[in-house]
Amino acid sequence: MNTLIKNATIVTMDEDNKVIQNGYITIVDDKITYVGKSLPEDFLPRVIIDGKHKAVLPGLVNAHTHTPMVLLRSYADDLPLQEWLFDKIFPIEDQFTAEDVYWASMLAVMEMLKSGTTCFADMYFFMEEIAKVVSKTGIRANLSRGLQCFDTDFDPKQDRRLLENEQLFKDWDGEGNGRIKIALGPHSVYTCVPGYIEATVELAQRLGAGIHIHISETLKENQECLNKYGKTPIRHLYDLGVFNMHTIGAHCVHLSDEDMDILKENNVNVVYNPTSNLKLASGITPVKRMMDKGINIALGTDGASSNNNLNMFEEMHLAALISKGVEGEPTLIRAYDALKMATINGAKALGIDHEVGVIKPGMKADLAIVNLNKPHFYPMHNVMANLTYSAQAADIETVLVDGKILMEKGEFKTIDAEEVIYNIKKISERIF
Ligand SMILES: [Zn+2]
Repeated sequence: MNTLIKNATIVTMDEDNKVIQNGYITIVDDKITYVGKSLPEDFLPRVIIDGKHKAVLPGLVNAHTHTPMVLLRSYADDLPLQEWLFDKIFPIEDQFTAEDVYWASMLAVMEMLKSGTTCFADMYFFMEEIAKVVSKTGIRANLSRGLQCFDTDFDPKQDRRLLENEQLFKDWDGEGNGRIKIALGPHSVYTCVPGYIEATVELAQRLGAGIHIHISETLKENQECLNKYGKTPIRHLYDLGVFNMHTIGAHCVHLSDEDMDILKENNVNVVYNPTSNLKLASGITPVKRMMDKGINIALGTDGASSNNNLNMFEEMHLAALISKGVEGEPTLIRAYDALKMATINGAKALGIDHEVGVIKPGMKADLAIVNLNKPHFYPMHNVMANLTYSAQAADIETVLVDGKILMEKGEFKTIDAEEVIYNIKKISERIF
C-alpha cells in the first residue's frame, strides 16, 4: 500500500542532523521510499496524512521494560528496592496467569503507542502471550523470557525457563514480518548462578540470539558480586562470555573505568532508565563518562511499577536534565542527544538500526507524528528542543509501524481499547 505524509516538519535523526520543513515522506508497504522537499511525480498514494503543524520523528524505542508490570502501577511506591521487590512485587507477580499477562501487555502497548513508542525490549514471563500481543497490535519488539536460577546443580536440558526461552525463539523469532525478535533474558548476576549464565550464553550461541540483562543497577548488587566472585558484575559477565553476544545491558549505574572499557570494547549497549533509577534511589548513571568513551546509550522506562508510566518523553527530558545538573554542565546532553538516545541508539541497542531509528529511504516506516499546534510549542524556534524539553506524551497524534497506521488521531486501529480496560479492571479486582 502507498502512503504519503505531506507538508510535515521531518526530524530525520539521520547523520547530518537534518530537519526538513514542509517535507514529504512516501511509504510503499512497510518501507520508506522517499524523504524530501518535493513529491515524486509518479507516486500515487492510497492514504494521505496531512503533516501541517506536525512533526514526524522516528518511532521511539523503549529499550528496557517489563510491560505486564503496568498491573502493578501505583500499587507499591516510596519503598526501598529490597522491600518493594521482595515484599510487594514478587508475591503479587506469583498470582499472574498467562491471560493476565496478555491483557496487561496489551494495556502497555496502548500506553506506548499513545506516547509515540513503536518498539520496545521486554523481559518477563508468559512471554508467548506478549508475542501474541505484538503480533496482533502491529508494534515492534525484542522479547526475552526472564531467566533466573539459584541452584548450582541445575540441569540446562531440564531447566523450565531455559526451555521456555528456547521455545519462544523457535516459535516467534522473525515473526510478524520480522517485527518480533527473541533474545535470552538472564535477569542479573544476583539472580543467576555463574554456571546458569554460561548455559544461557551457550544457548544464545546455538540459536544466534542476543542477550538482555540487568547490570550494576544498585551498589548492593556490586558489593555482593565483589564479595562473592571478587569482581564487578561487568567483569564477571565478561568472564562468563556474555559480551561475546549482542547484549542489551539495562541500567549500568555503578561502573568503574575498567567496566566502561569492557563495555566499549565489547560493543555492549547500555540502557539508561533515569526515572526508575531515581524512584528506587539506585543512583545516578555516569552518562557523560560513558558518552566520552563512545558507548552506545539507549533509553528505557523500566517497568511501570518503578516509574510509574511508559512515557519516553519523560525519559528524554530527565536524561538531558539530570546530566546537566549533576555534572554542572548545561551543554552536556543536548536536545539532539536525548532524541538520539530514544531513537537511533535504541535501534542500535536492539540490533535493528539497519531497519529503524532514522527516517530515510529503505528504512521501515516506524513513525511518530506529533501535533505541534499547541501553546507549549510556540514560537517554533527549534523543533528538537521542543520535542525534548516541551513535548508531552499526549501530543502524539498518529503512529505507524511497518508502514501500517496503528493509531490515527488518537484512535487505535488494531486494539479494542474498551475491551482491554474492561479486562484490566476484572484482573485487578481478582488479584488485589
Ligand atoms: Zn528492569
